[in-house]
Amino acid sequence: MAVLIASVSCTAHQASPAPGKTSGVATRPDIQRDDTSRATTTPRPDRPWQIDWARGAVFYQVFVRSFHDSDGDGVGDLPGLISRLDYLNDGDPKTDDDLGIDGIWLMPVFASPSYHGYDVVDYEEIDREYGSNDDFRRLCEEAHRRGIRVITDFVMNHTGRDHLWFQLAAERTDSEFHDWYVWRDDDPGWFQPWGNGPTWHGNPRGAGGYYYGIFWGGMPDLDFRNPRVRDEMKRLAVLWLQRGADGLRLDATRHLFASGPGDGQNDQPESHAYLKEFSAHIRSVRPDAFLVGENWTSTERIAPYFGSIDPVRGSDELPSSFNFPLAGAIVDGINRGAAQPVHDVLAAMKQHYPDGAIDATFLRNHDQIRLATALRGHPPSLGLAAAILLTLPGTPFLYYGEEIGLQNGGNGPEDELKRTPMPWTAEPGGGFTTATPWHPFAPGQATDNVAAQRRDPDSLLARYRHLIRMRKRSEALRIGDITPLALPAPGALGFLRSTPSQTVLVIHNLESARLTLDSLPIPRGFRPHDRLTRMTVTLERAPDGAWRVELPPRASAVFELIRPGS
Ligand code: CA
Repeated sequence: MAVLIASVSCTAHQASPAPGKTSGVATRPDIQRDDTSRATTTPRPDRPWQIDWARGAVFYQVFVRSFHDSDGDGVGDLPGLISRLDYLNDGDPKTDDDLGIDGIWLMPVFASPSYHGYDVVDYEEIDREYGSNDDFRRLCEEAHRRGIRVITDFVMNHTGRDHLWFQLAAERTDSEFHDWYVWRDDDPGWFQPWGNGPTWHGNPRGAGGYYYGIFWGGMPDLDFRNPRVRDEMKRLAVLWLQRGADGLRLDATRHLFASGPGDGQNDQPESHAYLKEFSAHIRSVRPDAFLVGENWTSTERIAPYFGSIDPVRGSDELPSSFNFPLAGAIVDGINRGAAQPVHDVLAAMKQHYPDGAIDATFLRNHDQIRLATALRGHPPSLGLAAAILLTLPGTPFLYYGEEIGLQNGGNGPEDELKRTPMPWTAEPGGGFTTATPWHPFAPGQATDNVAAQRRDPDSLLARYRHLIRMRKRSEALRIGDITPLALPAPGALGFLRSTPSQTVLVIHNLESARLTLDSLPIPRGFRPHDRLTRMTVTLERAPDGAWRVELPPRASAVFELIRPGS
């Protein structure tokens, strides 16, 4: 008998405390620390992951600076985020006016001189503008109480230039921290593999020479050939897991090592080796911790970051990586009215990804022009993008504000424009702050705000809430396999999602015209049952028994395939 989607209950997951969780705030790193700490870094081999909680879970990416300001300085902070958790998930399965997400990804929250936080100067302290370590602990507790897991950005490829390690390293070549960074006497003239920026930077301090920094001079790369660096990053990762985090989003993992100019700065074998070592250590301490890597590259180059699934179910390297090619294909496919870009990526994943990999899907992140702008602010396209993301396999990540159609902050190239304050209301402070926000709101605040969409059943926010609930109630949509379908229309994106107990047929119409399919691929003995309410989809059965479906432009249909009478 088919399991009806509506009959599967949707209960909030209550996260259990970490084994060995400590109650006190850990001490700051001893700058003179000797290698005795390495005793803690010998992992038990091949301990399996316990991260089934992350399979199919829906995450929400939060830029804390832009989410909610609790103390009136115009800058979002952790207490502000806590006060908005009920919007994300109130923990009560009976209510349906919250978004219903299962986890949040905090963009960097450690001490940093920049607005974005990707140049960390103290890996053990929450940035003062965001709050305190106690605030972080309280955030984790409040999130867990609502069934929300918390993963934090962990920037290990490089530190900020102002980190004490680099200050000491740059001052003297005989500093014990000098070889925590990558040095040479001359400038070989390498450029970033993706752009024109130099990757070797002159050191104006006492130690002279040139240091390597793939992003810019303000972010010197750590030298992961150094065992002390390898161990310190493992120790710091575990520290945050002990403080309540449920996982880490690992920044720039494909750049940990560089062997030469150009592509020699990407995907080096030594990077994979370290990530395996790091992963084994995390599994040995917190096998229920989720790791997701930022490997911004092609499908075939992302695939090796999963490592092997034979020694460790899921992965002996990173159990998850963001799927940049799929994100691009969804947006491209919608803009072109064509399903082929998505089909191409799904085919490449089938070829290269190991079984059991957790695909971290998304539409846009903090480094990309906002979705609403990329889709030219076209409301049906925004709803379609949401439906595609939330019906595909994987662990989808929503970028904050995407659910209300938040636009880019303007046309310029500045990253701040992709990270503007969350518009909760249409008022001057936007419900974000009582002061002047750290950055102006994006255009469209009058309509693209939470208050305006919250009670509107036809809003984009309502659609996200509905899609997330539909996904959570359906085992097949959440964790089922995917079988792409070749449908006789270039704008028809169709696939089956299935587990042994449930099969769901999904059809998205990417075209700006109505889509008619005269013969749905329904297996004999089954009938399609419309599960995506509020859709104006026509479903008819022809005299010859074929199922005919008609979708308006940019519409989606989700049918559970059931056996009549079962
Ligand atoms: Ca604040």
